[in-house]
Amino acid sequence: MKRIFKTATIMSAIVLASSCNNGTQKTTSDPHAGHDHHATVETPTADSSPAAGTATPTSGTIIIEGDDQMRFNKSEINVKAGEELTFTLKHTGKMGKEVMGHNMVILKPGTDIAAFGLEANKAKDTNYIPASLASSVIAHSDLIGGGEETTFQVTLPEAGRYDFICSFPGHLALMKGVIIAE
Ligand code: ZN
Repeated sequence: MKRIFKTATIMSAIVLASSCNNGTQKTTSDPHAGHDHHATVETPTADSSPAAGTATPTSGTIIIEGDDQMRFNKSEINVKAGEELTFTLKHTGKMGKEVMGHNMVILKPGTDIAAFGLEANKAKDTNYIPASLASSVIAHSDLIGGGEETTFQVTLPEAGRYDFICSFPGHLALMKGVIIAE
């Protein structure tokens, strides 16, 4: 009886002591140290994730098709601003570039497309990219005919809406769209 009583007393004393320690540790350390801890852990994580995003640019290839009916297969393309983009223009038709040439010309926001088209019509020697309005052109592909394809790279520096057209004479009416950079 005495032994059992002693053991029980010691046991309960240990339990009391340990639960008491736990109790005091939790109440004192959690609200303050706990929050500080989370804050210091989260800050480097938040710093490193955008850095990791910048280190691995998602440079996507965008394929756009033009056909013998003077149509692009895309009228709206969503991209990220500041990211290098690769455009591949495919002419899915059969007509030659002398009669059904296609290109893709990306224009600066605010460009008067109709005025650009009129100048482009006169610029056969430069594949309908008018030198006089070169400052309105952010990037452009080569002029291609049926069955051909061409690739070019561009980085759209700022978020915004960038018109793109085929500047082959007469195609602008149908062959145009917008690239939305975010
Ligand atoms: Zn065209």
